[in-house]
Amino acid sequence: MDGEHTINLYSIHPGTQRSKWVAIDADYDGCMKDLLQLRYELKQDSIQAALGQSRRGGHLWIFAETPLLAADCRIYIYNLALRLGIPVQGGGLREGIEVFPKQDTLEGKSFGNGIRGPLGVHRRVRRRYWFIEAEQNPERQMVYLGKIAKVTEDQIKTFTVGMTMPEAYQPPPPVVYTPGPVHHSDGEIRREFRILDYVRPRTKDRRNYWAQCPSCAHANTDKSQDNLAIQIANPRFYKCWAGCTKEDVRAALGQPVPSRRFA
Ligand SMILES: [Zn+2]
Repeated sequence: MDGEHTINLYSIHPGTQRSKWVAIDADYDGCMKDLLQLRYELKQDSIQAALGQSRRGGHLWIFAETPLLAADCRIYIYNLALRLGIPVQGGGLREGIEVFPKQDTLEGKSFGNGIRGPLGVHRRVRRRYWFIEAEQNPERQMVYLGKIAKVTEDQIKTFTVGMTMPEAYQPPPPVVYTPGPVHHSDGEIRREFRILDYVRPRTKDRRNYWAQCPSCAHANTDKSQDNLAIQIANPRFYKCWAGCTKEDVRAALGQPVPSRRFA
């Protein structure tokens, strides 16, 4: 709370794939208007959400009576946002709200994505960001949060009956393409490097798959896991939008670009 440490909160319990809260993070121009509209629409479903400021925008928090399936929470919020015309990151959009939990399920030993916990003094700018509906002191803010009605599993189940994740946000199906063998000048035949054997796209749009860039991942910089664009029509073409070179990407995968050999 005093800004000595930053606490990141990870929503999904890996054992149950459930979450006790949902947070909607927005930091683009005009995002507060979208968060207020979301809050209003949630209220029409009898869901109370706490709107707090953040350094560049705001966070909307929803608390659960009992842990809810992350997938259900996401289906509900994504469909609500799209119905309102509020942009959601991914699915081809670089800008829009981000929804935590950010995965339907966690795999292996991953934690998913974290969001900065509310009310602590921000270490970079040395100030605290408040929930807008309560007096600006920590005690009043905690009292306010304690009074927020919690959403139940029945509510979420009711609101998501028959709904699925919007198509643009579903993980893309596995891709099948079969490059021919490459004959090298030294007579050797090597199998062509296939980026999709190594990275798993998280989203896609009309032209590209978007995946975590392996080189960025090594540097721990591609938190949103979508820096690497891979052309759907021809996955031989891929590009890291953070500027890693093809050589960086290949090296990070332990598949360095073979150096040219001259006969
Ligand atoms: Zn990169």
